[in-house]
Amino acid sequence: MALADHDRIPLTFGPSPLHPLTRLTDHLGGARIWAKREDCNSGLAFGGNKVRKLEYLAADAVASGCDTLVSIGGVQSNHTRAVAAVAAYLGLNCQLVQESWVDWPDSVYDKVGNVQLSRLLGATSRFVGAGFGIGIKESYQQVLTEVDLRGGKPYAIPAGASDHPLGGLGFARWAVELLEQERAAGVRFDTIVVASGTGSTQAGMLAGFAALGERRRVIGVDITAKPAETRAAVERIARRTAVLLDTEFTDEVILDERYHGGTYGIPDEETLSAMRLAARTEAMITDPVYEGKSMAALIDLVATGEIARADTVLFAHLGGQPAINGYSAVI
Ligand code: PLP
Repeated sequence: MALADHDRIPLTFGPSPLHPLTRLTDHLGGARIWAKREDCNSGLAFGGNKVRKLEYLAADAVASGCDTLVSIGGVQSNHTRAVAAVAAYLGLNCQLVQESWVDWPDSVYDKVGNVQLSRLLGATSRFVGAGFGIGIKESYQQVLTEVDLRGGKPYAIPAGASDHPLGGLGFARWAVELLEQERAAGVRFDTIVVASGTGSTQAGMLAGFAALGERRRVIGVDITAKPAETRAAVERIARRTAVLLDTEFTDEVILDERYHGGTYGIPDEETLSAMRLAARTEAMITDPVYEGKSMAALIDLVATGEIARADTVLFAHLGGQPAINGYSAVI
């Protein structure tokens, strides 16, 4: 099946903005750097990569006749906020499980940012103590059962919308969109740098490029500090998504394990200084959990020449700014 044959409910403004980061490029003095901005891709509650992924899951949810979207993530999960936004937009109920993935001292960490927005969007959040992980959790099964017992019809969306059969399609479409934007702008990206967590963003890109017959270097930046699991997820989802597009993904996944800062959700000094540099050269806001870390990777790879000076590199900005409110202790 071609990508265009998969049902999709448009939830974004259209192609996400693509633009050069001229001051950052000049500052680093290496490869030319551009950004493609999922952080401003949609009018739904600050958008982000999850809104793009959910375009395909939303179509499936509506077709299933469900009345409640159920999902799971950390306390400051951008994904659960996006599910809450999509539920509100589609007129569905939303039940979220928020796990304590991050041990962070800021006293408002579990009150502001993404959880606050989910509340405003009408979702119900259940807080549970559990570490980072994308497996199927008991708490999540329990919420699904409870919706069933109340006579509702739940639609289950796993963490990051990743371990879902349709989870990779959104970013396969991103690859198609990028090629059209490249043609229009007269530019070609040799290398793409993208944060990798639950995996379906990088995996979708890889499957999308495979379906297009395009060979690009997509450098995933592990932000989980559990890179073996991230790599396995990206491989699995890329293969599965490629099959949905009548193609195969057989390449090796590139995952850089040097920039997660030691712990999921906790920024190290490199992350914080990368966030400051992006903000002070481009007024581009990144968060301490995801894009602060992939920005730290990009800066280092360009500054050290691991991404060659002759290259044109794309920073895939996936969103995530609302979580910043929970990090006032360091930002
Ligand atoms: N950037 C942001 C802002 C995110 O919310 C996520 C989600 O986990 C990622 C990057 C990583 O994307 P993925 O989980 O698809 O690997």
